[in-house]
Amino acid sequence: MHKVTLIKGDGIGPSIMDAAVSVIDASGVEIEWEEQHAGLAAQEQFNTPLPDQTLESIHRTRLVFKGPLTTQLGEGFRSINVAMRQEFDLYSNIRPAKSWNGIDSRYHDIDIVVIRENTEGLYAGLEHYIGIKKNIAESIAVITREGTERIIEFAFEYAKKNQRRKVTVAHKANILKFSQGLFLKIAREIAPRYPEIECDERIIDATCMHLVMDPHQFDVIVTTNMFGDILSDLTSGLVGGLGMVPGANIGHDAALFEAVHGSAPDIAGQNIANPVAVLLGGVMMLRHVGEDQAANRITHAVEQIIDEGKYVTPDLNPASRTGTDEMARAIIGAMD
Ligand code: NAD
Repeated sequence: MHKVTLIKGDGIGPSIMDAAVSVIDASGVEIEWEEQHAGLAAQEQFNTPLPDQTLESIHRTRLVFKGPLTTQLGEGFRSINVAMRQEFDLYSNIRPAKSWNGIDSRYHDIDIVVIRENTEGLYAGLEHYIGIKKNIAESIAVITREGTERIIEFAFEYAKKNQRRKVTVAHKANILKFSQGLFLKIAREIAPRYPEIECDERIIDATCMHLVMDPHQFDVIVTTNMFGDILSDLTSGLVGGLGMVPGANIGHDAALFEAVHGSAPDIAGQNIANPVAVLLGGVMMLRHVGEDQAANRITHAVEQIIDEGKYVTPDLNPASRTGTDEMARAIIGAMD
């Protein structure tokens, strides 16, 4: 029996999380869900976006399955996603984007994994105004040797373990010579330790253009925090959109699984959000704890439902009237 802290989140969160949990429970794996709160929902209920009991639960279970959390724009509390990644030192964010037969996207056979440094860079939270008029603001990008070494090593180890052929280091060391320069320098030190894996270096802007023009040349991409955040939305767009791409946040002592997408306020409450991205986050969690059989059952069922194209949410088929809950029931029905 695995104990997992369950945070349903904001916006479309409760609906996609209920759907995903119903599928995971039907897969035969035994999980004791410990429901906790965070984000806007927690702010409203407990007057804090990250209650102590949520943190205590994660310290106990070390395993989190989380829906998206809303962060207000330019005001309000700091991102709770960023806060949790820092609190539990979840330094590695794995975001795999893979093509699906049943999805008619711009490209086929895409299989790109973005590995994003998850605790420092421009998201370190070091921001301030200069002067009382607040007409000047500064955000400091923190890049450390320790933080960079562990994410570059993680990317190469991931590539090795998963029979990947190439790691692309995406950076902006031509302009940000100190912070991005340090990231690239350390990548160049570590890459020769993995002679079996090709190391490719690319400036981030060119990386974006190449991803759109010819994505097949990419395999694993490792990059700093904000670049990874942006690139993984781009790679989601290559394989059917944000409704299809999961993310794992991995540290030495804890791991948190979610979707790449946010709380999607534009479609919240309509029962039309695609539950697959977060469900695939759940599949990554099952593999993380060695439940490969359940993970395979769910993956095959999702593949079947997407191939058939009948019980899929409108983001995948605009003519469809299938709801979030109905798609989950179809996936459960397709499990062998
Ligand atoms: P978003 O990812 O929520 O939505 C972007 C677009 O994708 C929207 O049009 C939305 O309808 C669509 N979309 C997203 N998920 C979908 C799904 N499962 N099925 C179908 N369509 C889907 O990004 P946003 O609107 O820029 O951000 C909304 C909020 O989410 C913000 O407060 C942001 O801070 C937060 N956010 C949270 C996380 C997280 O919790 N990990 C990640 C990204 C954004």
